[in-house]
Amino acid sequence: MRVSWPVLYSVLIALLLWAVASAIFALSFMVLVLFFAVIRHAWQLYKLGVWLKDARIETIPETNGIWDEVFSLLYKMVKQHNQTRQELANELLNIEQATAALPEGVVSLNEAKRIEWCNPLAEQHFGLNAKRDIQQDITYLVRQPEFIEYLHAGNYSEPLVMKPARHDDMVLSIKLISYGGNKRLLISRDITQLERIETMRRDFVANVSHEMRTPLTVVNGFVENLQDMPDLSQDKIRRALDLMAEQTRRMDHLVSDLLTLSRLENDQSPLRCETFSMEGLLGEVYRDGQMLSGGRHQHSLEMTGPTKFFGNREELRSAFGNLVSNAVRYTPDGGTIKLCWALRAGHPVFSVQDSGIGIEEQHIPRLTERFYRVDRSRSRETGGTGLGLAIVKHIALRHQARLEIVSVQEKGSTFSLVFPASTANDGH
Ligand code: ADP
Repeated sequence: MRVSWPVLYSVLIALLLWAVASAIFALSFMVLVLFFAVIRHAWQLYKLGVWLKDARIETIPETNGIWDEVFSLLYKMVKQHNQTRQELANELLNIEQATAALPEGVVSLNEAKRIEWCNPLAEQHFGLNAKRDIQQDITYLVRQPEFIEYLHAGNYSEPLVMKPARHDDMVLSIKLISYGGNKRLLISRDITQLERIETMRRDFVANVSHEMRTPLTVVNGFVENLQDMPDLSQDKIRRALDLMAEQTRRMDHLVSDLLTLSRLENDQSPLRCETFSMEGLLGEVYRDGQMLSGGRHQHSLEMTGPTKFFGNREELRSAFGNLVSNAVRYTPDGGTIKLCWALRAGHPVFSVQDSGIGIEEQHIPRLTERFYRVDRSRSRETGGTGLGLAIVKHIALRHQARLEIVSVQEKGSTFSLVFPASTANDGH
């Protein structure tokens, strides 16, 4: 209607001109009016065409009349479109951030097993690059045969456990999930720590069984001997019983160390601490050491550290006792064993220095592992279980202390427990 009004007006004027002047004059007037109308619309169409090439709100042309309405409708449409696009972009960003925060690697694969997207953890696990590798076939990038076989087998009920080519110290558990028809999500989880714990558990069971088997075999042998030979001399019987008692003592030691270790490892409750006299505790440890030595070593005790200490007395007695017992067991007769309680740069330190056999440097980092021994037979001969230093390390951890080992072969070793400076303040 709005477009036709000017035309109707000019037709009326033309009719008037025809009446008062001539038909030619009226027609010329009409042609001129129509010509300008066409030119004006063509110009606006041209502006629309130019603007549509890069339809942005800021560049929308200024017009009037009917074209103003057209452009204002277009303005609304573009604005709405921009808003929807912004909302979608925000949603996408949200999803991207959520997948980036997932504790698992995620790769989306299309029907042809090409990568559609992946999160940063998947980039790390498989050495992918989210930008570079999009639309790449996953089997070109992750080439391990077991992975390709798993991908093609189509049975994804059980996860695949594999080591990625780039990090052979990492163990991944991989699972594929089908979605949206033929697409798949590849989920990868780093289970290195779990595998390590599982290996440790298996080793531990094997070690314990082995440790128990040796004394059991000995005891068993003697029992069978005694059964088969009822008329053995009293002397031989006594000797067999002594040896059996020694082996059962060994098993008893082992079981009690195992129980201590397991209690320390499983105890999640906060450490029960008290303030106690260090003098009393060190006196007990010192006397125990002398008893163990049976006069074979020269013992000394130096005490310059805090007299009162805040910690778990029973556990510390066990840790200090273990270090002293080791010093006695690994120091040949006539050697010296020095116990020292002192402050070192504000830290209370308990140390046991011996003039014993010492330890080769390469063994030192592993001494606190359960059942790790430098010399198996020496440890066994002296009644060792291979768990002493593991217990010491645990007790140290529970007291936020650090175990330091300094040793020179054939010269001797110093084992020190360095406590946090705060315990010295509590103690004074
Ligand atoms: P064990 O019961 O075998 O002594 P530990 O855990 O107490 O077990 O010690 C682990 C190993 O560390 C020992 O087998 C021994 O080889 C070495 N070790 C510990 N203390 C000393 C020491 N004072 N001198 C020399 N070697 C030591």
